[in-house]
Amino acid sequence: MSTTVTFSREIANLLHAAGGTPVSACMQCGTCSGTCPVGDFMDVRPQRLIRMIDAGLKDKVMATRAFWYCASCYQCTVRCPRGIDIAELMYGLKRYTIWKNQYPEDLIGPAFSETFVKTIVRTGRSYEPVLATSYFFTLGLKEMLAEAQNATMLMLKGRLPVLPARIKRLENFKRMIKRIIPIGD
Ligand code: SF4
Ligand code: SF4
Repeated sequence: MSTTVTFSREIANLLHAAGGTPVSACMQCGTCSGTCPVGDFMDVRPQRLIRMIDAGLKDKVMATRAFWYCASCYQCTVRCPRGIDIAELMYGLKRYTIWKNQYPEDLIGPAFSETFVKTIVRTGRSYEPVLATSYFFTLGLKEMLAEAQNATMLMLKGRLPVLPARIKRLENFKRMIKRIIPIGD
């Protein structure tokens, strides 16, 4: 017997895995939207996004950019009277849309996130020069030159590493990561 898992159930599972309260507990008070510092830049504010998830509007949710604009400040999570971890929900939605390979094409966020995770898995540390490649070529010529100039200055001052660093006991770290992310050997 096959069981179809609804979109709102899938998202509830993502939140449950993070130990969070399900979005169905939302009472639409609007505190999250009112408190969000980047709400003005989002196409859909957190309160409405939660209502859309609860209503099972999968395609509309997947097409929004709201969670890619989330600054992970956790103000909404701290203030939600129903204890919904909205910041974690935003992370969950990012992971979900990358997993489904379904997000607006012109977004930098998915490529940036993927590059970040791969870099961490490979060396155990973030390495900015590689991360920059995920957005560098989306810039205009003027911005590219300004970014290159800034990066050179930072390198000369020792604030940006020339070569990537590796953590000690990298194999132990990879074994640990493998339990949560399916990575190759
Ligand atoms: S603060 Fe919590 S209860 Fe209020 S609208 Fe946002 S998610 Fe719903
Ligand atoms: S965690 Fe994200 S959604 Fe929540 S208030 Fe901060 S920026 Fe807004």
